[in-house]
Amino acid sequence: MLFRNAYIENAKELADLRVENGRFAAIAPSLAPQPGEEVIDLGGKLVLPPFIESHVHLDTCLTAGDPVWNMSGTLFEGIECWSKRKDKLSRQDVRERVQRCVRLYAANGVQFIRTHVDVTDPKLTAMRALIELREELRDVMEIQIVAFPQEGILSYPNGKQLMIDAVNMGADAVGAIPHFEFTREYSVESLNFALELAAKHDKLVDVHCDEIDDEASRGLETVAARALELGLYDKVTASHTTAMHSYNNAYVLRLMRLLKMSRINFVANPLVNTHLQGRMDTYPKRRGVTRVKELTAEGINVSFGHDDIFDPWYPMGNGSLRDVVFVGLNVCQMMGYEDIMNSYRFISTNAAKTLHLCDRYGIAAGRPANFIVLDAQNYYDALNKNAPVLRSVRAGRTIAETKPAQTEIRF
Ligand SMILES: [Zn+2]
Repeated sequence: MLFRNAYIENAKELADLRVENGRFAAIAPSLAPQPGEEVIDLGGKLVLPPFIESHVHLDTCLTAGDPVWNMSGTLFEGIECWSKRKDKLSRQDVRERVQRCVRLYAANGVQFIRTHVDVTDPKLTAMRALIELREELRDVMEIQIVAFPQEGILSYPNGKQLMIDAVNMGADAVGAIPHFEFTREYSVESLNFALELAAKHDKLVDVHCDEIDDEASRGLETVAARALELGLYDKVTASHTTAMHSYNNAYVLRLMRLLKMSRINFVANPLVNTHLQGRMDTYPKRRGVTRVKELTAEGINVSFGHDDIFDPWYPMGNGSLRDVVFVGLNVCQMMGYEDIMNSYRFISTNAAKTLHLCDRYGIAAGRPANFIVLDAQNYYDALNKNAPVLRSVRAGRTIAETKPAQTEIRF
């Protein structure tokens, strides 16, 4: 199968992509069709590797307003709303919502999702449902599951055993939530436990790390030090790290050396964190997003996630990652021309590093033929015009298609 006339990742020249047996066989300008080969003209549109959601909570998605709306929008009222919704959690409920959410993502060019799943539940209901769905949806969406201890590992009854059970059930990654543990000592011990568990079972790590405005929240240095010492390196990700926003610069300068040595990844969640952080501030009010610009300048890998989709903590979300990038660039003051042009990397190639996809990802001969087509010629225009994803191709098969809306101006 031959896909013709694409601007691949902002290239200035058009190129064609040949797909054979679900993989890219050749990528070059003006490939001649072989006898009997199916040809699809992409019409001079932008082709990117598929979008990747590197941080979301599918187990809570699509529950906003059920049974009550979060009226203040705070994290704490969100927790209250969720405790009322949690009673209804069942295998069927989780399956139905996750399937709907995955279809929203697919319509918007997402083909890989890392979801955190709350394991502070003695029955592990959501974890079981997500593990089933990970297998069932494998051909259309690759789902990575993080065992996420929402209420802590040492601060929740039987927390360590629930984490071990989740890993034995088949979680792909181990999580932690050091800033939520009862004490600083628990915080450090929870990280030691989580990273050692991951090392023992050869799992990835993704920690909800310092998602708080408290500048004294310093889980990040422990995550980075253990990633280095245990040799886990880029298998480890620190999500949120919003406290880093509030650290003093002298401390950050010292910390940055360790972060680079550790090679860990970062995930920022600009929508949810601008919404939830800075709630105790009067004015000036903190932006609440980690130091994306500075981390990127140091060569440290950062991706962006949506975090919550229409749930008690974030009342918006339609499966599109466009607004995540758009708000992220604004809040992080990364609106230079090159910053904007390359910003798709926060939800594609950078996220692929976070998910440790290695050579399963990217537009290159021999790799799986996964790509998306946007209604623009480059990502600057795609972002600015909110261009739809016209086509999402997975292993050579089109799994979602969108017709662009047409507007008629009558003056
Ligand atoms: Zn999260």
